[in-house]
This record gives sequence, structure tokens and C-alpha cells, in this order.
Amino acid sequence: MSVDLTVVGGTLATADGLRDAGFAVDDGTIVAVGDPDRLPAAERTLDVDGRLVLPGVVDPHVHVDGFNSIDSYETGTAAAARGGITTVINFAWQTWTGEREADADGSVWADEGSLLDAIERQKRKAEGAYVDYGLHATVTAEDESVFEEFDAVVEAGVPTFKFFTAYDIGVSNGFLRLAFDRLADLDAVAVLHTEDAAVCEALTAERQRDGRGDPVEYPGARPDYAEAMALADAVTLADATDCKYYGIHTSSRAAAEELAAVREDGSQFRGETCTHYATLTADAYAEQGMLALQSPPLRADDDVDAMFEHLREGTLDVVSTDHVASTRAEKTVEDWWECSFGVNGLQTSLPVFHDEAVNERGHSYAFLVRAMCAKPAETFGLPKKGRLVVGADADFVVFDPEETYTITADENASRADYSIYEGREVTGRVKETFVRGERVADACGVTADPGYGEFRARNVPEWGARGGGA
Ligand SMILES: [Zn+2]
Repeated sequence: MSVDLTVVGGTLATADGLRDAGFAVDDGTIVAVGDPDRLPAAERTLDVDGRLVLPGVVDPHVHVDGFNSIDSYETGTAAAARGGITTVINFAWQTWTGEREADADGSVWADEGSLLDAIERQKRKAEGAYVDYGLHATVTAEDESVFEEFDAVVEAGVPTFKFFTAYDIGVSNGFLRLAFDRLADLDAVAVLHTEDAAVCEALTAERQRDGRGDPVEYPGARPDYAEAMALADAVTLADATDCKYYGIHTSSRAAAEELAAVREDGSQFRGETCTHYATLTADAYAEQGMLALQSPPLRADDDVDAMFEHLREGTLDVVSTDHVASTRAEKTVEDWWECSFGVNGLQTSLPVFHDEAVNERGHSYAFLVRAMCAKPAETFGLPKKGRLVVGADADFVVFDPEETYTITADENASRADYSIYEGREVTGRVKETFVRGERVADACGVTADPGYGEFRARNVPEWGARGGGA
């Protein structure tokens, strides 16, 4: 009896380091790892010709088919596949049905809605996905009746609950206190966007009054201390309730330090930054204008350095994309406060972060694999993802660490028609991406059929040892 596939001729990049080895795949699962000569006979052999083989990237923070992103699952996950990302976690918005027009106040949010309905809506929309996906239950209304669903939502394979402290879907500390208490009972994870809404609104209003609409004025309206203040409140509440806490899109040294203060062993508090906070500064607003607008804002060189320091020290576990697709036309508005937030990054995240972390800053491949593959999988209850070990899904990326190319949005599989990395020369390129042993993309485009990607029910995660390392 032979297995389906062996992958040989390359070097495996793992969270423990580089290893000259191959592996065998049967029925979508890795069944052996080791000396290529000792792998079982296979129907097909993939010789990667001296390249690196990385575990598929797990991106726990993407926006596709949501109120803020024009990508469908098909276009968003095509970008993911081409970028070496084999699992994404998207958002199931409680009160945005995808059909509702803005009301008289300009809101697209209903007053009430069910998380379970939202999860089902997303699964229907996801029929065209190319890579595997999970969902975060996203609480968008301050209505305690949603707590009654928490149990069933976890049972449905969605053990992570997103809350905002800002925007018209932000909730109060009082509501967070009650929600965290219920999540702690279930051992589920609270996923937080933290910015102090009142501070950001006051600073925005000041700029509107003074006509300071140029995008270079934008970062001052959402300062680092507003991010750190709301983060400090949220982790205080998580500590008081013993609730697992994951802070998304950490962008500043100030916020990372607040997380470091409570972090301890990583069994209760974890966090991420995004590729753009680790590779760009607020100079992008002068250079690219509105196209680079996202929230929280890009910040200073020192904040970029802080993202790497805290990834190395283990305060931050994960690098995500926070992918949001918009067109150049949608982003090009008169004043920055009319601009929708978010930038696309699924296709470029791995090569851009690899180039910065490994080539520019001298971090190891173990550092890269930990932040983009192993830790996100572990943090989000995906034990079969993010690792090249026996029993794991055969999700992997053939990566050429030597090839230099220039990023251009002309190659975007996303509906977004620009890239904040346009013109950036990077060394290291995704050549092929495999999900469960099947190739989903190569250098020319997607190679799987839409719908190959599957919903992954996730377990309540076990958060063990502290991460970190160079
Ligand atoms: Zn986001």
C-alpha cells in the first residue's frame, strides 16, 4: 500500500528550527516526517528542488464578505492561497445581515441579532472558499440576551468572541465585565479591539472643526495612549473574571507594554500585531494618502521596533493581516474621516513579513513560523494546523527564500485594486500552497476549485507555555 504524496528535496521550516527532511501525506494528513529515503512509497512525489517548506500560514484576523470588505470568500481566500495562507478566521457579525441598508443615522447595524444566525450566514457565503476557514462570533450590540447563546456558539466550533471598545458597535466596560464572566465559565476567548472611543471621538471632532482632513492628520486622532488605555481596562476586566484574553492588532509600544504587564505565562493573556504595524510607519499617510488608512493607525519607527521586541519576548504571539478589501476609488475621499478603515494584505503578508523579520532584522525561521503558523493555530484551537508533524493536516507552502520580486497590486487576487506594499522589493516568494495535501495555488494563480476550503470547527484552546525567542 502506498500513500498519496511525498514531499522531498527541501528544508522544513518549523517552530523549532530548520530541518532537512521530507514528509508523507495520505488522505490529506501528514503520516510520516523524516529522512526522504525512509518515507513510505507514494503515488506522487513532489520534489521542491532545494526550497523551503513552511507550514501553511494561519491568519486569525481577516475580513471577507463583511460590511467593511468587498472580498467574497472566493476572492479573499484566492489571495490567501496565493500568499501561503491556508487557514483564515473571519468574523460572523451579530447584527449585520449583509442585506441591510444604512438607516437614517447612517448605521448598517440592526438593534438585535443572533450570533448563531450570523455563523450560519457566513457558512453559506463561504461556499466558494479555497482555503480552510473558521469564524469569530462578533458581538456588535450591547444586549445581554446574546449571553444565552454563548454556550451553543462554543458548541458550534466558535470558541472566540470579538468585542469592540470603539465605533458605533463598541460596548461599555460594564457589558464587557458581564460578557467576560460568562466566557470564563466556558473557558472561551475574548478577542478585543481596544481604543478609547471617547478620546478618539474628541480628537476626531477637533480635527473636523479645524478642517484638518489631510491623511497625515489622521494618526493624531487615534493616539497610542488611547489604544493603551482601553487595553488596560479590558485586561483588568479579564483578570478580574479569569477570562482568556486576546488583543488584536497591537500597533504601539504603549499598548504592548500594557499587555506585557499582565502577560505572565501566556495561559490567560495573548496578543497579535499585524504585518503592516511591523513593516510601515505613519510616513505611509504622506506617501500613499488615504490608501494606507486603517485603525489603529500606523505609528513611529520605535513602535515598529516594539512589535519585534514583544514578539521575541513573547508578549505578542501572532502576526495577522487584518485584511480588508476596498478599491482605490472607495478609499479616495476628500477628508480622512470619510475614509473607510482597513487595508488588504492576505497575498503579501508572508513575503513582506518574511523579508522584514528574517532578511532585514535577522530573526530565525523558527520566529517566523511561530508567529505566523504555530502560535495562531495553538491560540485559536486548531491543533491540526500550523505544524508539519504526524497527524497534522498537510497544509504547507513551498517557499523560495532567494527569489527577489517587486510587489504590485496588478497581481492581486483580492478585489482590492491597490497594495500598501506597491513597489516594495522583497526577497522570498511563495511558489506553491497546499491545503490538506492538495495544491490550491501556484505562481500563476489558484489551482483548486472554489469550495475546496472547509469550515473548521475549533476547540476551546489550551493556552500553555510562554512563546518568544529570536
Ligand atoms: Zn479587523
